[in-house]
Amino acid sequence: MVDMDTDLDIQLPEPEQAVTVRGLRKSYGGRVVVDGVDLDVAVGEVVGLIGANGAGKTTTVECLQGLRRPDEGLVRVLGLDPTTEADRLRPLIGSQLQDSALPDRLRVHEAIDLFSTARARNAAELLDRFGLGQRGRSSFGSMSGGERQRLFLVLALLNQPRLVILDELTQGLDPAARREVWSAVSQLREGGTTVLLVTHELDEAEALCDRVVAMRSGAVLDTGTPAELVARHAGWATVRFGTGAREPSRSTTEALRRLPTVRDVTRERDQVVVRGDRATIAHVGAWLVGRGSVPDDLRVDIPDLETALLALLDIPADVRRTALAPDLDGASQ
Ligand code: ATP
Repeated sequence: MVDMDTDLDIQLPEPEQAVTVRGLRKSYGGRVVVDGVDLDVAVGEVVGLIGANGAGKTTTVECLQGLRRPDEGLVRVLGLDPTTEADRLRPLIGSQLQDSALPDRLRVHEAIDLFSTARARNAAELLDRFGLGQRGRSSFGSMSGGERQRLFLVLALLNQPRLVILDELTQGLDPAARREVWSAVSQLREGGTTVLLVTHELDEAEALCDRVVAMRSGAVLDTGTPAELVARHAGWATVRFGTGAREPSRSTTEALRRLPTVRDVTRERDQVVVRGDRATIAHVGAWLVGRGSVPDDLRVDIPDLETALLALLDIPADVRRTALAPDLDGASQ
């Protein structure tokens, strides 16, 4: 028998780009749900596709896997066209799809056997790596949510894929289980695995991704590292500290107001609150050092990716995890 997988390895060039998408469009029943999407994932990158429910993320990754046929656009995954070369592409992608499930009675080792192909690696080592080394005989139904998702990661990695696609990996998990799964994905990142991660949870994207692609209503709104997106969409900072007095003096607030880049200075109880851009942090710091004392309660707030992109992505309040500080909210206007 010809070993198709080995054959594939010999024939396929190693592309530098794991994913290239240009002008992808897809409609369902006349309604456009993916509208001219461009997407790049370099080999070794962890890229997050983020956006609210219905943004078109899943449809996009389904087109990448050959599960849906694009209406228009160019799609290349590992140098292959998913529509016409799906059979060659399938063994090279490891995916955990949204709402993945296995029969409750299926044991972990049976799932491993079921999913193993000729390319399969040592499953025991993988199970150990994701903290499931002792769970080989456990049934899927007896596992916790975090364990199940870690098993899906093991299954996604089992056949040594060149690209791993993870769709809503931590949906429905409690905070501790989310952290477990995050740490498993961080291991992939450190190991140089190419990952496309679909999520509507911005803290997850910030924690795990090298680069983020923000989608809304079928279109890409912006792309960049989490730090670049925060700088572009929420480049403000808030510095607060006590002055030792019960109420900061007018001369203090006036002096701070005159510093470069400072936009606004207010008093909140015994603290003075200075708002501006990132440079403001340095100017206030230098001013404090110049006065000869740095207050013990000095605090700096800078927005995270969630704060930066909530408005851009139109994410409804009920999926927001981190409460927004009212002052930062105000500063974003
Ligand atoms: P979610 O986070 O909810 O999965 P998403 O960003 O992944 O959202 P998609 O699942 O790609 O978005 O869905 C985009 C739009 O297409 C949604 O409005 C959805 O209802 C619609 N849609 C998805 N699949 C189909 C289908 N098979 N037939 C008709 N409409 C569909």
